[in-house]
Amino acid sequence: MPVSAAQSARSILNDLHEVMASRANAQSKLNRVVDVIGSNLDSEVCSIYLLREGMLELFATRGLDQDAVHVTRMDIGEGLVGTIALNAETLNLAEAAAHPDFSYRPETGEDRFHSFAGVPIVRRERAVGVLAVQHAEPRRYEEVEIEALQTVAMVLSELIANAGLVDEDEAARLGPALTGPERLTGLALVKGLGSGIAVFHQPRVTIEHVVAEDTEAERQRVYLAFDRMRDQIERMAQQAEFGVGGEHEEVLETYKMFAYDEGWGRRINEAIDSGLTAEAAIERVQQRTRMRMRQIDDPLLADRMHDLEDLANRLLRIVSGQLGTAATVGLKQDAILIARNLGPAELLEYDKRRLKGVILEEGSLTAHVVIVARAMGIPVLGRVRGLRGKLREGDALLLDGDSGMATVRPSPPMVEAFEARFAKSRERQAAYTALRDVEPFTRDGTRITVMMNAGLRDDIPNLALTGADGIGLFRTEFQFLVSATLPARERQTRLYRDVLDAAGDRPVVFRTVDIGGDKVLPYLRHNSGELEENPAMGWRAIRVALEREGLLKAQARSLLEAAGGRTLNVMFPMISEPWEFEAARDVFESQVAFLRARRKPLPQAIRYGAMLEVPALAECLDVLAPRLSFLSVGTNDLTQFLFAADRSNPKLAERYDWLSPAILRFLARVLHSVAGHRVDVTVCGEMGGRRLEALALIGLGIRRLSITPAAVGPIKELVRKIDIDEITAAMQGWLSSPPANMRAAITEWANARDIDID
Ligand code: PEP
Ligand code: MG
Repeated sequence: MPVSAAQSARSILNDLHEVMASRANAQSKLNRVVDVIGSNLDSEVCSIYLLREGMLELFATRGLDQDAVHVTRMDIGEGLVGTIALNAETLNLAEAAAHPDFSYRPETGEDRFHSFAGVPIVRRERAVGVLAVQHAEPRRYEEVEIEALQTVAMVLSELIANAGLVDEDEAARLGPALTGPERLTGLALVKGLGSGIAVFHQPRVTIEHVVAEDTEAERQRVYLAFDRMRDQIERMAQQAEFGVGGEHEEVLETYKMFAYDEGWGRRINEAIDSGLTAEAAIERVQQRTRMRMRQIDDPLLADRMHDLEDLANRLLRIVSGQLGTAATVGLKQDAILIARNLGPAELLEYDKRRLKGVILEEGSLTAHVVIVARAMGIPVLGRVRGLRGKLREGDALLLDGDSGMATVRPSPPMVEAFEARFAKSRERQAAYTALRDVEPFTRDGTRITVMMNAGLRDDIPNLALTGADGIGLFRTEFQFLVSATLPARERQTRLYRDVLDAAGDRPVVFRTVDIGGDKVLPYLRHNSGELEENPAMGWRAIRVALEREGLLKAQARSLLEAAGGRTLNVMFPMISEPWEFEAARDVFESQVAFLRARRKPLPQAIRYGAMLEVPALAECLDVLAPRLSFLSVGTNDLTQFLFAADRSNPKLAERYDWLSPAILRFLARVLHSVAGHRVDVTVCGEMGGRRLEALALIGLGIRRLSITPAAVGPIKELVRKIDIDEITAAMQGWLSSPPANMRAAITEWANARDIDID
């Protein structure tokens, strides 16, 4: 009757239990371990090699010459044993000597043995040793035997760690599979440079106990963990109501498929049967899956493998109670955060002083997490494929958000070169700082208003640092996003007042809450409880505010009170039709009446504005313009609606260009529609913070920009090089007969005039 892997592992583990419980010293335990394994697997040879002083040393053997113990040593990567440690991979060979890495060690007397199987002994993801069996007969070991060996190797890793037989720090330095520098390339989402150690947003769980005391209890723990994990996934799928879409949905589908996969659960159960703890069983099955997947060279499958890794890690976190993200634990040193994707609120949980960069597998330029990172001055590299397989927690990282790449485990010369660039970039920053008090006039004397975008209390100092002309977009929803509960009116008032105080004479434009889309508030449930297929085009921004009038009223009161005695600029997001603007303004006016009746201080003046983000509004601008004090063009949303391209869908991240004739012509028409009305027009989307785009906008006739604080200096510098008549004429030419590549044409134009547009 064939034995199962669980049975053979079980019988070895039973015997090992006794060995481990005995009071013998570590060496005699290892001597007994090789006997137990050898006899159970009917192998003439069983040997344990452990890492010592950077080399793999034969620590115990049954079947090889005993004189070789503590004498035979090999480098990582040398011979079969060294290869197993280097790649942290199993070898199973009918004829050992036929393998190209075979290296013969005469002192062991191993020439009599033909077959060879070895598995790595892994501790904290690093190989700390190798467990090998050999046999005189040339035969490949059965899969059940290999699996039993792998299970035993897990147990051994615990025994070895408890006995302090290997130096784990040394093992960490000798990390087998991931060594040496590696370059990661992706899409530069937020420019800038940063260095630190890699920290996984979802940390990997460390498994402390491998051998179970009570198998039934372990089984129950896994059942419960599966239940909780499935619940979490169902909830994630429901929360998809707010702006996920695209790849996220595929991921959720895959998650579901794995979470309910019976085969996975069964294999974990079998591993528990063999005597492992729930954690070790999950990891054991994961190791086996990893091994199998590695043999299949298919990028699609590799992606799915990441999903399964994510899920196995989630299951491990639940079962071990090691919940929470790296933010919960806190950053101990300068760090680069690694994640598949993040929400804006998740990013805000990190300690800004230690967070030096973010690398994402997904991400797009206008996703809110990226906007938040930009506001925080944290470089972000996105769209790095297979990211999490290329580095380990704690690896050194240099992130170059300017050129869209990062270097893992850099060599000293690479670090030096990076430091030099860092110093240069700081110099450039200092040059921008010097522009702080310089007013941005074009060469021909036109004053361009350069304001900054903000949303957090932390942004306030940027006003003084950049010398921006004010805050052209204050995203009030950020306060809601970082809050665990709906911010009370007093808290809102306090923030708005502090912002106004800091701005002094400079204007601040408060945008009423723009939630929904990719800005999810866990405490604000969807009104009808229904899922939305297209949340970016769904119940969000002014649509939510007009329906949840209490929310808008409270915000109106807070803003009116905060701006007592001053000018209040209020702007409504996602206005599609004039009546929405009027309805929102009425909510404010009713609060004005309320405060007036109570003789409360009121703003000296209230200026109402609308955001142009929905193309439909452009068709009615002539109707709305007389009622507006200002119009702010949100090119992030406008672009997604003009092109019908979800701004948070990474697959579309690079597809459409802000410098396309469609957008530029659209903006030209908008300016034409409001010409003759006393309406200030500002562009407050991310587009305005990029030099080439800003040049184009000025060419179109835009004179007011509100941009990310880090861009204020570079844009001021740009403005001072522009001649308005020249760029206006060029733009008119491009608009009437668009070049095949608008970006290339404008770049060439700027280069010819020595205008720096990088
Ligand atoms: C925009 O859509 O361009 C905009 C400025 O608003 P947000 O990015 O916050 O949606
Ligand atoms: Mg918007």
